[in-house]
Amino acid sequence: MGASASAAFIDSTPLTVPAATAATAAAAAAAASGRLLSVDRVSLEYRTRERIVRATHNVSFDVYGGDRFVLLGPSGCGKSTLLKAVAGFIPPVSGTISLGGEPVRGPGADRIVVFQEFDQLPPWKTVLQNVAFPLRVAKKLGRTEANGLALHYLEKVGLASFANAYPHTLSGGMKQRVAIARALAMQPRVLLMDEPFAALDALTRRKMQEELLRLWDDVRFTLLFVTHSIEEALIVGNRILLLSPHPGRVRAELNSHQYTHDSAGQDTFRDSVAHIHRLLFEETGAAS
Ligand code: ADP
Ligand code: MG
Repeated sequence: MGASASAAFIDSTPLTVPAATAATAAAAAAAASGRLLSVDRVSLEYRTRERIVRATHNVSFDVYGGDRFVLLGPSGCGKSTLLKAVAGFIPPVSGTISLGGEPVRGPGADRIVVFQEFDQLPPWKTVLQNVAFPLRVAKKLGRTEANGLALHYLEKVGLASFANAYPHTLSGGMKQRVAIARALAMQPRVLLMDEPFAALDALTRRKMQEELLRLWDDVRFTLLFVTHSIEEALIVGNRILLLSPHPGRVRAELNSHQYTHDSAGQDTFRDSVAHIHRLLFEETGAAS
């Protein structure tokens, strides 16, 4: 429903407007600068019966088309909350989130989330059905077209031969590959990933990071990636936003495009890890 709403919204945007509204002017400015996602002084809160928990405070960042933008910070600093806000599930208490210059008002097929949990795939659907189903529902594709596109993306993650398998027969890494194929098949404007490899063993995790980078080289999607691992942030990201603990505030923004797995043993990489560690933990004086 969010999907059709956002599609209708895009379709109804006129290409030429005699008197451009502020919104369309903002969209044009965003497009001209290459800025895709803009998070501007966003504060996010949870309201329980007893109290209000502020998850992030005044967070700002811009994601450009083709970025692999990483939100990095300790557990509880509001990374998942920020991602959910970008996905449209949590409205900011102050500040704005916009995509292509248009404010985010709710969930939509232009932002797809891949989660950490292996159980994000309905177990009663085969791998192919899992990937094809959202294409049929949100993109309104026919069965043949949806299956073709699903298979295309399953090939990209090396799982075409498992198209007819059920999720419970797959390893954790394979389930995450299906979730990634399902997300990419939707061709979102931003792919959102919340610690997608955190529950995998170290070797599989490394392999998945490499595969994600290969996929990015191939498909060139825009990625917003959440992690609490400094090494993962340096390897996966081209830009990193460091968030301080509770409530999450912007600590620093860093470039990290120069790093790959091959750099992991090098002095400059180790220096960057140490530098980020200091920024995150020592100078803030965070106790927990
Ligand atoms: P991270 O993903 O960085 O570990 P979260 O975004 O999950 O952090 O959480 C940020 C803060 O918001 C934490 O203090 C957490 O306890 C709190 N929080 C998260 N979800 C809820 C919720 N549903 N209700 C109340 N507080 C929450
Ligand atoms: Mg989280």
